[in-house]
Order: sequence, then structure tokens, then C-alpha cells
Amino acid sequence: MRRAIYPGSFDPITNGHLDVIRRAAALFDELVVAVACNDQKCPVLPADQRKELIEDACSELANVSVLIFSGLVVKLAEAQGAVVLIRGLRAVSDFEFEFQMGLMNRRLSPGLETIFLTPQEDYTYLSSRLVKEVSRLGGAIEDFVPAGVAAALKSAYQ
Ligand code: ADP
Repeated sequence: MRRAIYPGSFDPITNGHLDVIRRAAALFDELVVAVACNDQKCPVLPADQRKELIEDACSELANVSVLIFSGLVVKLAEAQGAVVLIRGLRAVSDFEFEFQMGLMNRRLSPGLETIFLTPQEDYTYLSSRLVKEVSRLGGAIEDFVPAGVAAALKSAYQ
């Protein structure tokens, strides 16, 4: 049984994240999507709402579960029995940070392998930050996020 873990802020989940989740869920027996509860990042949506939105978006993926965590990802991976850490790579701009983080995590937990997945091209320009900015300024974001997220952001910005 191979379990993978996909950590992130998911503030909010976008179709890019969902694409990575689908790919990872097809590769591993179980995928745990781990929502970071980090108030220093000043999230727009509370962690429990981010978790619910991911659960709704993944309801047809039977091997995907969602949890909230704080602290080191490698410790969570160990506690969950995960052998792989999933991260998404959109463009070269993601690479440097993800590369550093991957090497640090390997140093902290040598048995945990980081695997980078690339989304479908249409999603490579999508980021939670940009989606929030468009929504905050009154733009339509329905094409970029799973159902439910647009409404959640709209009411968060009211
Ligand atoms: P974090 O705060 O950990 O960067 P994010 O929720 O922004 O959390 O992203 C989690 C992971 O998903 C990161 O590896 C990020 O590069 C990846 N990711 C974000 N947006 C996309 C996207 N549109 N396509 C593929 N991967 C993405």
C-alpha cells in the first residue's frame, strides 16, 4: 500500500491543484491532501472551509482524503505512513523554491521521496493568489476553480 501526501495552503483550491490531485490519485493507492493551517500566511479562507472545499471537489475520488495540519510536513508524512510527497510544478519560476524545499525535506526525512507533477498546460498560469485577486476585484473565476470556491471567495470579500 503506497500512500502519498500533497501539502499546501490551498487558499483556495484551484483547477490546477485538482489536476495534480487527480494525477497523484491515479499513481498511488491513497492520497492525503494536507491543508496547512498557518496564520502567518494570513489566509483568506479558514482552514476548515479550505478542507471542505477540497473534499467537495474530490468527492468522486475514492482514494483521496483531506486533513488539516500545522508544523513540519515531514513529521506529518511520517505520522501518516506516507512514502511520497507530491508537489506541483507549473513553470521555471516554481522550480527554485520547490527544489530547495525538496532537498531540505530529503535531509529531514531521507526515506520520503518528493515527486513533482506538472498540470495540463491550461492550468500552468493558475495560482491561488491570482484567483483571489481577480475575485476581490469583482472578476469571474468560475473557469479557474471547482464549484463552490467562487461563492466562498465572493462572500469572504463582502
Ligand atoms: P504553498 O503555500 O505550499 O505553496 P499552494 O496551495 O500555493 O501552497 O500550492 C501547493 C502546491 O501546489 C505547490 O507545490 C504548488 O506549486 C502547486 N500548485 C499551485 N498551483 C498549481 C497549479 N495551477 N498547477 C499545478 N500545481 C500547482
